[in-house]
Amino acid sequence: MPVLKVENVFKSYTDTNKRLDVLKGIDLSIEPGEVLAISGPSGAGKSTLLHILGGLDAPDRGRVIMEGKDLYSLNDAGRAGIRNHDIGFVFQFYHLLPELNALDNVLLPVFIRKGFRRASPELIEAGVAALREVGLVSRIDHKPNQLSGGEQQRVAIARALINRPKVMLCDEPTGNLDSVTGEAVIDLLMALNERAGQAFVIVTHDERVAVRCGRVVRMKDGQIL
Ligand code: ADP
Ligand code: MG
Repeated sequence: MPVLKVENVFKSYTDTNKRLDVLKGIDLSIEPGEVLAISGPSGAGKSTLLHILGGLDAPDRGRVIMEGKDLYSLNDAGRAGIRNHDIGFVFQFYHLLPELNALDNVLLPVFIRKGFRRASPELIEAGVAALREVGLVSRIDHKPNQLSGGEQQRVAIARALINRPKVMLCDEPTGNLDSVTGEAVIDLLMALNERAGQAFVIVTHDERVAVRCGRVVRMKDGQIL
């Protein structure tokens, strides 16, 4: 069974009086443990598709099935539960909270899920383990502005891993990094995939990133080519 499946998804946006058809009938299955690139030029609809895949934005038509459950027929709380527990997100601009150190940024999804109690020793150990997996155990106390771009993205990856999701959705994860740092981030994603076997969906307009993935799906003008 695929870990995520998109069936005949359509999405359009309407600005004042102009309608923009962004996704025009997308079908896609993501298999457990695979690394899938979604490539294509800017404006193709890649981010829109990723948001719909992750339960962040409802399609106008079609379905998104996660392990047999239709994401958008669940209520908001049910969908938020799956989003928080089974899906990890990595974005181009990291989206770390500037006031929190690396460890607290990593633990944030657990605090959101379980409430802002004092972190237990087990929870702290889980956060440290996630930072160790991304090679940042020496930066636990650092705030985002004390970290390089590549390090901030590693913290964001550790945060996405903390609930041990079945699928990681990454939107231009190297888009804000120089090519050497970006390549190291892709190396890390590949190593994580080999070690823990989560599925990865990596949206990118960078062909050098796409060719490193197990499978590449190309999008243009709201369709898969
Ligand atoms: P990509 O990630 O491939 O660059 P996007 O999915 O971000 O493409 O956007 C596809 C098209 O949809 C673009 O033309 C973009 O301007 C438009 N778009 C995306 N989100 C919105 C929105 N919330 N409202 C209106 N238009 C949007
Ligand atoms: Mg995009």
